[in-house]
Amino acid sequence: MIIVFTGDGKGKTSAALGIALRASGHNMRTLMIQFMKKKGSSGEHNIKEGLSQNIEILAFGSEFFFEGDEKKEHIELARSAWSTMKEMLSKKNYNILILDELTVAIKYGLISLEAVIDFLKHLPYEIHVIITGRYAPYELLKMADIATEMKKISHIFDKGQPAVMGIDF
Ligand code: ATP
Ligand code: MG
Repeated sequence: MIIVFTGDGKGKTSAALGIALRASGHNMRTLMIQFMKKKGSSGEHNIKEGLSQNIEILAFGSEFFFEGDEKKEHIELARSAWSTMKEMLSKKNYNILILDELTVAIKYGLISLEAVIDFLKHLPYEIHVIITGRYAPYELLKMADIATEMKKISHIFDKGQPAVMGIDF
């Protein structure tokens, strides 16, 4: 299956992590590749032994990316994420592949939509793919077996509350 979690409400990455956790209980292996996220910046990067046999998370990103920023470093990191992902899929059989924030990397031109569509059409073996991030393009939504839009009803960030450890990162 291809699953897309998109929209402006909180819960896209957490939903993907929830599936990885659930699948781990069935001894299924998940590879999560995080675009545009700095290594060590989120709690999920410290998953403990045992769980980390089934859930592997690799983060590729540097400082927060803003529209209009110099892209060179970000493009290199995204390319590196993409090639590492392919290499890892060829080395071990995973049941689930999570491409976290991929749609944002596509929107900012760090990864081409065509490459993603081509990859999804020629997956190396039977594997569920979960793609998260705002601005999922129509072409991806069309390919998805499950697409969910997290819609913001409210978010405390709008009242000035910064990100909360354990809840947001
Ligand atoms: P999470 O990682 O908590 O599941 P997410 O993947 O849905 O969130 P992203 O768009 O990746 O959300 O944003 C990452 C960060 O921004 C998280 O700290 C998240 O809590 C926060 N966030 C998500 N939605 C909003 C929003 N509508 N307003 C402000 N902050 C948000
Ligand atoms: Mg996210």
